[in-house]
Amino acid sequence: MIVYLDGDFLPLDEARISPMDRGFLMADGIYEVTSVLDGKLIDFAAHLNRLGRSLAALDIAPMHDFDAWLAIHRKLIERNGVTEGGAYLQITRGAGPGRDFLWPDPAETRPTVYLFAFQKALVDTALARRGARIRTVPDLRWKRRDIKTVQLLYSSQAKSLAIAEGFDDVWMTEDGAVTEGSSSNVHLVLGGRLVTRPLSTDILHGITRAALLRYAAETGIAIEERPFSVEEVKAADEAFATSATSFVQPVVEIDETAIGTGIPGPITQRLREIYIDESRKRAI
Ligand code: PLP
Repeated sequence: MIVYLDGDFLPLDEARISPMDRGFLMADGIYEVTSVLDGKLIDFAAHLNRLGRSLAALDIAPMHDFDAWLAIHRKLIERNGVTEGGAYLQITRGAGPGRDFLWPDPAETRPTVYLFAFQKALVDTALARRGARIRTVPDLRWKRRDIKTVQLLYSSQAKSLAIAEGFDDVWMTEDGAVTEGSSSNVHLVLGGRLVTRPLSTDILHGITRAALLRYAAETGIAIEERPFSVEEVKAADEAFATSATSFVQPVVEIDETAIGTGIPGPITQRLREIYIDESRKRAI
């Protein structure tokens, strides 16, 4: 595997990062994952926009413009022969002189920029065919979930425990409403309408969510942006999650209660097809 680290393309086993890197010591960093179909990037401009917002929130100066990021991504995809899968991009504040809560002087610290590309089936997956079984857990993450930081411990713990219990993933709840999946935005279909939690600092502003809402509106599906409860999920006609690497993922069960007919719903499946078709057309 050829990866990108701080300006170089090199074999993974030659990539070296300082143990003093603040990404390692303090989760002081952000990331993006862009999906790849037919060797091309899906919604790349939107991912770079969000990257810019995450960097600004952490006061890390941007290091590349659109064309430079695109060239790095394309070279990685090509060098690794990725046709379907994704590209992972991580930027940390870099290594400070020691371990300190205070952000080091940017003049004395160089951010670490790391990317790799991976091959993975995204379109034809068993989970998309059968639908996910979800367990709910309280949302115990920090309150700036709109920043895509590498601080993923709670979501990773919650998902791992749920999978050990035979579920496929978790949906997190707070103040009586569902916030997000471990790494996805959450949606319902209720009487033909698409219901989705509105954007705020409580959730990540999903790139897949945004694109899907545009495509759904174009096909005439009404969209209602409001929080919804687990009880509403149980009573919904259909439910699904969105993310860059799962696209539109049907959800068929929550806390062991079947949703709708208990199999992936027709509107969800249609939205998945529309999302994949439209994304392919616009990929770069
Ligand atoms: N919410 C969380 C917490 C995530 O980690 C992700 C993706 O990793 C998403 C939502 C979906 O975002 P996107 O569609 O941009 O992949």
